[in-house]
Amino acid sequence: MANHCKKREWFDLGAESFARVRPDLYDRPIYPCPICLATFTIEALAQKQLSAEHVPPESLGGQELLLTCRNCNNSSGTKLDAHARIKEDVQLALAGTLGHPHRVRAMFGDLVVNAELHTSGGQVLASSPDQDQQAWYERHAAKCRSNGRTTDGRT
Ligand SMILES: [Zn+2]
Repeated sequence: MANHCKKREWFDLGAESFARVRPDLYDRPIYPCPICLATFTIEALAQKQLSAEHVPPESLGGQELLLTCRNCNNSSGTKLDAHARIKEDVQLALAGTLGHPHRVRAMFGDLVVNAELHTSGGQVLASSPDQDQQAWYERHAAKCRSNGRTTDGRT
């Protein structure tokens, strides 16, 4: 966990950068939250309105690297972490190293199917966890084949 000296260093770096971009806007150091752009004075550190943010997210092995406001660290940070986790899972699945199923929405032409990505022997497999949806897709695929088309609309 970043100590107060490290947070002060990040505050000063952010405030200096912000002052270079907006030199005539404030007469004292101001730190903008990099997510919501709300501005803070140095007192925000003592009031714990700014906190250390992991980059990339801590769940992906990130380290504390900058300050965000408490609201962003609690809410937006969680959303960013979740999206980063999703991206990481897809990359791991495509690399064949994902250790658990990952829910995806697969598109076959105009057909959208909720599915799960699995890796097996280095191959990526998609399966539908929803049996009704899977049965519907199989009927759709059979209809496409009987019309001489693939499920993605190609002939
Ligand atoms: Zn913020």
